Amino acid sequence: MAIKKLEERVKVMHVKRDDNVIVVSGDDKGVRGKVVAVSPKEGKLMIEGVNVVSKHVKPRRRGEPGGIIKTEGAVYASKVQLYCGKCEKGVRIRHKIIDGKKARICAKCGEEL
Ligand SMILES: [Zn+2]
Repeated sequence: MAIKKLEERVKVMHVKRDDNVIVVSGDDKGVRGKVVAVSPKEGKLMIEGVNVVSKHVKPRRRGEPGGIIKTEGAVYASKVQLYCGKCEKGVRIRHKIIDGKKARICAKCGEEL
């Protein structure tokens, strides 16, 4: 079989940690944020201020406060695009070799991202 099953395919992440991204679908559509963590295995990533979920925490030890803590939930990488400050929107990227290094550029304006 030439076509691999979806779960066997290696997911290539188009974004890295500290990238500026914008969410293009889902509840957080249009929200911009910085990538704080990536999980290539799951094809998911965590973005600052995106998909914030509240967790109820019980005090485990005496004197430890319980309560509600807010934490970022993971979103699928396919739901985000890299944000181009020049185009002021989410864009597709292209790879280009600049000075022997692989750089990512905006597919629209050519700005290095
Ligand atoms: Zn651009």
